[in-house]
Amino acid sequence: MSETAPIRVTVWSEFRHEKKNPKVAAIYPDGIHETIAKCLREQPDFQVRTAWLDQPEHGLGGCVLDETDVLVWWGHMAHGELSDETAAAVQRRVLEGMGFLALHSAHYSKPFKALMGTTCSVKWRESTDKERLWNIAPSHPITRGIGEYFEIPKEEMYGEPFGIPTPDELLFISWFTGGEVFRSGAVWQRGHGRVFYFRPGHETYPTYHHPQVRQVLVNGVRWLRPAVCIQDACPNSPPLEPLPEDTEASDRPVVGFK
Ligand code: ZN
Repeated sequence: MSETAPIRVTVWSEFRHEKKNPKVAAIYPDGIHETIAKCLREQPDFQVRTAWLDQPEHGLGGCVLDETDVLVWWGHMAHGELSDETAAAVQRRVLEGMGFLALHSAHYSKPFKALMGTTCSVKWRESTDKERLWNIAPSHPITRGIGEYFEIPKEEMYGEPFGIPTPDELLFISWFTGGEVFRSGAVWQRGHGRVFYFRPGHETYPTYHHPQVRQVLVNGVRWLRPAVCIQDACPNSPPLEPLPEDTEASDRPVVGFK
């Protein structure tokens, strides 16, 4: 895959809270997905489109997934309304090589749970906690330019235990005013694709306007860019070189127990 080709990004969200809650609409008038997409479009090498839950096939039908290098996912109140077919298609594309950036409550989305294979449950509280995210992997490309830590003045609390498999690498640990801690930034390899979970993003707070959160999104998309795209196959494989004559199984010496 060409290193100079644009990174094709699809930003997906439910786009429900914005239509129901004026507080959310005031922060994200065009939807959370559009705020994130605008941020990503500032990168000249990103080619960004959006999709949301209530579109036909959730906006991910046709060639959309096949033409997506990195899928950004924000879900919260309607995980169960995503079709199993779409969830399976997202999982398949990640196994082929597509990057998947799961944001905030996407920890409970069907595609993320399928990719993790665990409960993905968290402890939570809608509150006025301050969140302090500690950058514990300063040499990782996703934390570039972030510094030792950054703070979000108000956020929903997520606390451990977080029901995920042990990450390949842990990038951020959050501390909340209420005393909890949480693995807020973590990455996994799944098949040929990469997965990045990034915690902040409760809809009633302007988290996706926060400069360091936006920097992590940009860094994350760049790091999630696919290295390959390999479709699943389970082929019967002829030998590359002539094989020695087969010996009848009955002629083989008996080894082990009589
Ligand atoms: Zn939330």
